[in-house]
Amino acid sequence: MALIKCLDCGKDVSTEAAACPHCGRPVKTPGQIDRVKKYDTVVSSGQSALRALLTLDGGATIAFLTFIGHLWDKGTLSSESSHLFVAALQMFIYGTLLAVLAYGTIFLTNCLSSVEWHRSANAMFSVTVLLGFTSVGCFLAASWRAVEGLQAATKLI
Ligand SMILES: [Zn+2]
Repeated sequence: MALIKCLDCGKDVSTEAAACPHCGRPVKTPGQIDRVKKYDTVVSSGQSALRALLTLDGGATIAFLTFIGHLWDKGTLSSESSHLFVAALQMFIYGTLLAVLAYGTIFLTNCLSSVEWHRSANAMFSVTVLLGFTSVGCFLAASWRAVEGLQAATKLI
């Protein structure tokens, strides 16, 4: 047990106390502070992971569009490969949308955790993780389709 200064009134409060006996301000135990810190770390690393994901998906979508447009111009796009390319493009777009959605939910996670709605924040974080993984799944599926489309395209040449 240790005494700390209350952040509101400056009087000594036991770290064991739930709240300051002088002014009633809730005392955060080191364990609680740790948890909040950990949460922040998770949220911010999640945010950078999502940023990377968004760049990846968005970049792939744009690169892919340019690529398809190029093939289209040259008239080398067979119906089989164009079908696969369109499917791939669709998946890339879904992946991007999901990454954007996950970005929104991680923002909400942050808001909810800052107002200490831990349950809602946890639920929102699960949604974020789910969206993130689905987005990665879309990206992988899209890449797979793109490779198949390329194979179909090169068969002709
Ligand atoms: Zn106090």
